[in-house]
Amino acid sequence: MRRIIALVLAVVFVGATFTASIYARGPGASSSTTLAMAPLQPTFGDILIEETVDPTDEALVDWAMDRYREAGLSLPTIRLSFHSDSAPCEGAMGGHRLEDGISRVYICVVEFGATRQLKVKRTLLHEFAHAWDNHYLDDATRSAFMDLAGLDGWSFDTPYDERGSEHAAETITWGLLDRPLLFGEFGETTPWELQHAGYLTLTGAEPPHGYVWTLFAAAHDIYARTPAQLKMIERAWDQSEEAVRRSESIEVRFHRTYEPCGGEVTSSKLVDGRLYVQACPGSSDDIHHQLLEELTG
Ligand SMILES: [Zn+2]
Repeated sequence: MRRIIALVLAVVFVGATFTASIYARGPGASSSTTLAMAPLQPTFGDILIEETVDPTDEALVDWAMDRYREAGLSLPTIRLSFHSDSAPCEGAMGGHRLEDGISRVYICVVEFGATRQLKVKRTLLHEFAHAWDNHYLDDATRSAFMDLAGLDGWSFDTPYDERGSEHAAETITWGLLDRPLLFGEFGETTPWELQHAGYLTLTGAEPPHGYVWTLFAAAHDIYARTPAQLKMIERAWDQSEEAVRRSESIEVRFHRTYEPCGGEVTSSKLVDGRLYVQACPGSSDDIHHQLLEELTG
């Protein structure tokens, strides 16, 4: 088994040990020949929503279930609650536990408005992936995935960022997201090949989606992590959805200098179906306008 060295890790769900999401990427992954058998007819248990925070919460759960249905992945019965503080998630945005053999999911996205909805969507997919793992994944498939990703352990006996279960949950989330959803704590990620091979290994099927949007920022680059930037790109996505879907994936990198953009506000190039966008300093409106042109042009 080849050990793949993680390039950069970025904590999305900061500070938690049991639900935080870590992105670890490595080069050179090869496809595994061991494929799980995807169920032809996915089955769905009851999603029991015990507590909500926002009027949109139930619709977001429906959205997440539709993503699993679309992918042909079953979900067990899940007890689910939304919280307005992060304590039930031990400081993270979400958590999954088995309680008396039943999947129990906590969502603790402590924000409001559009940004909250995006984070809830993503967190639901991630935590549901843990439920799917616990009820439908077998050890042979887990081993195949760990071999592929260069990981040695699956769960709590392994350091958080090296847990196969977390990498698997992120891989499933990646494959099910039906649009790019952005968060401000991404590290340097170029994981498409690894994610794709990982998804195949876990599910035995092609991912229904699998966008790559990378908000690139060095650790010191605060500029790339503002909510305004996330909103800006979401807005650009809304306005250019059809055009964007011509690309297999999109990678957006923010920079503090103009050099990566050749002195302009943005620049982009399409390489093998992947659109690379560089965004350089400018007013938000300027970047948004330019970004839209890059995406639709
Ligand atoms: Zn997790």
